[in-house]
Amino acid sequence: MAVGNPEVLKWLEALQQIYAANRERLTELDSDIGDADHGTNMDRGFTAVKAELAAHAASDIGSILQKVATVLIRSVGGSAGPLYGTFFLRAGTACAGKTEMGAADVVAMFQAGIAGVQQRGKAVAGDKTMMDALLPALEAMRKASEGGRSLAEILDQGASAAESGMLATVPMQARKGRASYLGARSIGHQDPGATSSYLLVKAAADTWRS
Ligand code: ADP
Ligand code: MG
Repeated sequence: MAVGNPEVLKWLEALQQIYAANRERLTELDSDIGDADHGTNMDRGFTAVKAELAAHAASDIGSILQKVATVLIRSVGGSAGPLYGTFFLRAGTACAGKTEMGAADVVAMFQAGIAGVQQRGKAVAGDKTMMDALLPALEAMRKASEGGRSLAEILDQGASAAESGMLATVPMQARKGRASYLGARSIGHQDPGATSSYLLVKAAADTWRS
């Protein structure tokens, strides 16, 4: 299937519902190794995104995603606001002017967004951040795309790699962000940002499956 403006809007609506439903869980994870605000940050951000998208129609996928970026940067504080803001800003640039994306375009969108997060946050694999879900997801999506898989298969592989990456943050010691202040005490807890990033990829897989 192709992903057009309506499917992108559906993904963003799903994210609003998912972050609202997972607000407590994400905040609980952040209370273990941070300042207990990740769930409220994500919920606030995507609720604001929903309101903005309902109020102002956008003509193409690039402008939808750029709107999302602007709202997230404005309404989400901490690390997650600028990082997810950068994700959507770069993702939007990758599909500027497009009203439909095929499988390769979707992978290019994720690639641009994830590269943006990495440039902005400077975290590498193993630092116990959202990159630990995003980098394996991208790698899996690229492989599946090069192997000529369908969009649904590409996204499922991405979501499943993101999930494994999220779970793999448990034994890691944080080297970036607030959790890094805890040193070895950050070991044994799942990273909240890796969890919200898994949910981001999983929502695309579930929304764009058929
Ligand atoms: P804050 O830490 O400012 O309270 P949040 O609680 O909303 O912000 O987000 C915390 C998450 O941000 C962490 O779990 C981690 O995944 C992610 N994060 C923090 N710093 C970085 C970074 N430099 N690069 C990538 N992700 C990061
Ligand atoms: Mg926090």
